[in-house]
Amino acid sequence: MSGGKSPVPLFKDGKRHDGRGPMDLRPIEMKVGVLNNANGSAWVKFGRTEVIAAAYGPREPPKFMSLPDRALLRCRYHMAPFSTDERKNPAPSRREIELSKVIREALETVVLTHLFPRTVIDVFVEVIQADGGTRTAAITAASLALADAGIPMKDLVAGIAVGKVDGHLVLDIDQIEDNYGEADMPVAGAVNLDKVVLLQLNGSLTPEEFNKAMYMAWEGIKKVYALQKKALEEKLRKEVNL
Ligand code: ADP
Repeated sequence: MSGGKSPVPLFKDGKRHDGRGPMDLRPIEMKVGVLNNANGSAWVKFGRTEVIAAAYGPREPPKFMSLPDRALLRCRYHMAPFSTDERKNPAPSRREIELSKVIREALETVVLTHLFPRTVIDVFVEVIQADGGTRTAAITAASLALADAGIPMKDLVAGIAVGKVDGHLVLDIDQIEDNYGEADMPVAGAVNLDKVVLLQLNGSLTPEEFNKAMYMAWEGIKKVYALQKKALEEKLRKEVNL
């Protein structure tokens, strides 16, 4: 949130700056098994936000890094230098380090790490193009890549952000809505487990708005989850037809 004035009206006659209604998601595309050189991979696109995830493991851990009772889950969220309007320094920023941690913690709820003691499971997410909602797209892609790698999980994790623009709550905010809005609330959840696994809030909401925002996020998460299942099924169908 920049606090400045938006160059475009953010909410007018019930529509957002890109013509969407408050509950509309951006066009979403997902593909599983997009990389040859990873155990599992996924590509996810929410409007202009585009991420790719690669998963490896369970495999031999680096020295002194193993855990006796479970696999060590490691996660890296990274923005490509060309993903933002101004070139991003490729070195990991504090923001990327923090996001890597919260994404890993969200995934730890679902990955059955206790089945693979003394191993490491890695998931790398690269933001190819950033236009808002990269952390929720990253979680969505990371859990797909882990599933594609055949890593046992209790559930998939799907994410979406709710925002508040010109006093209205809106689902799946893009960069302009994030930059000039009054609040940004990324949420991720495991639909089958019926659990929220990530919740952040920048800006402020009243408790009533917060409840409504959570309801909206969960509706969005259910849609993203359905698309994840479809993408995994498509990959399986292709394998069976080979
Ligand atoms: P998220 O992408 O999860 O919404 P933020 O709220 O931190 O995360 O960022 C919102 C948007 O701002 C990003 O999606 C991206 O489009 C833009 N952005 C974030 N960090 C940078 C950066 N270092 N340089 C340029 N744009 C950025």
